[in-house]
Amino acid sequence: MLKVENVTKYYGTNKAVDNLNFEVKDGEIFGLLGINGAGKTTTFRMITGLLDKTEGNITFDGKKIDYNVTDKIGFLTEERSLLTKLTVIEQAKLYGGLKGLTETEINERLDYLLERLEIPEYKTRKIKELSKGNQQKIQFIMAILNKPKLLILDEPFSGLDPINIELFKSLIMELKKDGTSIIFSSHRMDHVEYFCDALVILVKGRTVLEGYLKEIKEGFRKKNIIIEGSVNESELKKIKGVLKVEENKGVFTVSIENNNVVSSVFDYIKNKKDITKFVVEEPTLNEIFIEKVGESYEK
Ligand code: ATP
Repeated sequence: MLKVENVTKYYGTNKAVDNLNFEVKDGEIFGLLGINGAGKTTTFRMITGLLDKTEGNITFDGKKIDYNVTDKIGFLTEERSLLTKLTVIEQAKLYGGLKGLTETEINERLDYLLERLEIPEYKTRKIKELSKGNQQKIQFIMAILNKPKLLILDEPFSGLDPINIELFKSLIMELKKDGTSIIFSSHRMDHVEYFCDALVILVKGRTVLEGYLKEIKEGFRKKNIIIEGSVNESELKKIKGVLKVEENKGVFTVSIENNNVVSSVFDYIKNKKDITKFVVEEPTLNEIFIEKVGESYEK
């Protein structure tokens, strides 16, 4: 388990991370969310020991993170750092060797991962000859070559197309199943929402929302009802406890104060003949963020 306790980082007088606290248990995926300059990369550098923290404690399985545990860690940095003159297998041998893997282990794991990311033909190609997206795949492979116990992914999906995002995600889910603690940063709420067990949202180094996604959503009283069919927007708005009604291509999103309002809305639609959908949904992470922070995350 990764534990980050009361961690603060100053650059000169600039407080980049302000009293950060979170845990990532074995087999959990944790999202560190924040727009540019929120403090995500700084946090990762402190976790991996590349940067000293000003205050606080960071441990993995109860121990300080130092050279004794680096074999168990995988880190995909935001700035891509491959030795581009090498071939993919040469890079893997160098990197895997540093992580204590044998040549056979490196070859087997590399073959497997290249296959999973659908680029087996690149094993003996020079990295500089590959496209940007494929270089990112190679960098991801290097980060997980050693089947890390702790995997840190700084903006792993940036610049990837949706198909490749799915390929990355399926490998990440496989590591999760094997018990790896995974922490990744993103400025995209949808990635974090789809994917994470727990999360922290940082704004200028400060935590504005944190916890298990399920609990955050359940703890938030407001819900949305999705209705498809011909209903009257102004009639819906008159129902007590209805906060907002939005319509898009015949689909109505009705924001309600709490679960008790569901039955009133249901009473209203039950005599209508052409209702094809009536679903109560949890609010989106963005809606919760707006409510808590007072402004939209995605401006
Ligand atoms: P991005 O999404 O743009 O990568 P981030 O969330 O990773 O942003 P950081 O790079 O950790 O954010 O930066 C947090 C704050 O610390 C910013 O105000 C930034 O200007 C500052 N900062 C980062 N690195 C340094 C440095 N080496 N020296 C001084 N200030 C820095």
